[in-house]
Amino acid sequence: MSESAFSHLSLAEPLSRAVAEMGYESMTPIQAQAIPVVLTGRDVMGAAQTGTGKTAAFSLPLLQRMLKHENASTSPARHPVRALVLLPTRELADQVAQQIKLYAKYTNLRSAVVFGGMDMKPQTAELKRGVEVLVATPGRLLDHIEAKNAVLNQVEYVVLDEADRMLDIGFLPDLQRILSYLPKQRTTLLFSATFSPEIKRLASSYLQDPVTIEVSRPNTTASTVEQHFYSVVDDDKRRAVRQIVRQRGITQAFVFVNSKLGCARLARSLEREGMNTTALHGDKSQDERLKALDAFKKGEVDLLVATDVAARGLDIKDVPAVFNFDVPFNAEDYIHRIGRTGRAGASGLAVTLVSPSDTRLMADLEKLLKRKIEIEPLEFDDERPRGRINDGRRTWRERGEDDDRAAPVRTEERRRDGRSASAPKDPFFDQPYEPPPREEAPAWEANAKPATRSISANIKPKRKVAALFKAEQ
Ligand code: AMP
Repeated sequence: MSESAFSHLSLAEPLSRAVAEMGYESMTPIQAQAIPVVLTGRDVMGAAQTGTGKTAAFSLPLLQRMLKHENASTSPARHPVRALVLLPTRELADQVAQQIKLYAKYTNLRSAVVFGGMDMKPQTAELKRGVEVLVATPGRLLDHIEAKNAVLNQVEYVVLDEADRMLDIGFLPDLQRILSYLPKQRTTLLFSATFSPEIKRLASSYLQDPVTIEVSRPNTTASTVEQHFYSVVDDDKRRAVRQIVRQRGITQAFVFVNSKLGCARLARSLEREGMNTTALHGDKSQDERLKALDAFKKGEVDLLVATDVAARGLDIKDVPAVFNFDVPFNAEDYIHRIGRTGRAGASGLAVTLVSPSDTRLMADLEKLLKRKIEIEPLEFDDERPRGRINDGRRTWRERGEDDDRAAPVRTEERRRDGRSASAPKDPFFDQPYEPPPREEAPAWEANAKPATRSISANIKPKRKVAALFKAEQ
């Protein structure tokens, strides 16, 4: 029997039955490390991303520990909230809640999810009936706390999932406020893609003597992603997508853009040009977003144009290709974006379209990836005359040399380096993820406002999301 078999854990029968039904054969690295620790009741600080199996890593041991409270009573008082799972986005909350429901299906433990953009009434009714595991986005949870629908004084376990993204979106004051409602005696689990200074400070404020667990991105994911950076002027980018999709016979792809406005506009243009496209961004209603996601999952649409916030952590596996229509503002988002493809051993293609104005962003990305990036020219294969000659490699180098903030990419250096960005293997991904060093004070410390608020964060998504994109929105 494998060292990482679930049977080593002695999970209660209802939980191991659910796990067996899910078809899981062995634990993923984060599960093998985190489950035994959480079973002991220790706090955990875990560096792991969505796609590593972290939902089961925290929910299985929490459910196991809560089984002692399990009961079939219909009285709400017998089903107080004992575990709280906080996530940054509606889609993630929905996804995690669905998984928890599956793991708990043979127990009498109840779970529910609350997030903004949906009518509060059905959520209120569910909360009033009593739930042991509550999955929530921070803003909507505060609405329910204020309306006295959610009482959190019996919470024993808190999970701050995708904590780095919650801070990015500006949820720190909401998190502080929520945590102030919880009993001091509790187990706190924090999961984050990175351990930035902000995350470390959050952990030191709210976790007690945590066990740190770090898992690298699965090597199979990373090393099977073929990465290309093509120099393409903005006006030619849609054409580039169409050509690559056609030439490579790509059936489905994510197309990442940097702004909500650009997202909707690009999806409309691609659709007009005959590509079966939908958009996923924060300005869509919850219903529209879930529909878009569902249509993509069912294969009814070929291209899903998305912003980083909307797409982060979505459980969509085996997307054959990812296009970075815009070079991400935040270099770390490159890692998240291309993590959508090449999962589970499947090979994937990640194409980044680099325009001459992306010099600084590309320099940031080189710094993060710790290697030179080769920008390839893209030859268009149709006859249609174009306005510009796409000698992108030269354009890129010239811009780089003009701009002393950027690290110019020189052919000689590349030759000396002996590496090529188009090679599918990338040693960066075989290492545990390390954020770039930062000297300035954590933004949330400097800007942290008193934890007061009048209405839900989810009612004002624009301002929160705008914080990510600053002037571009
Ligand atoms: P997560 O990172 O928790 O979002 O999980 C990503 C995907 O991996 C989900 O679809 C899970 O159902 C799946 N998964 C989680 N644990 C395992 C496992 N031990 N074996 C196979 N698949 C798993």
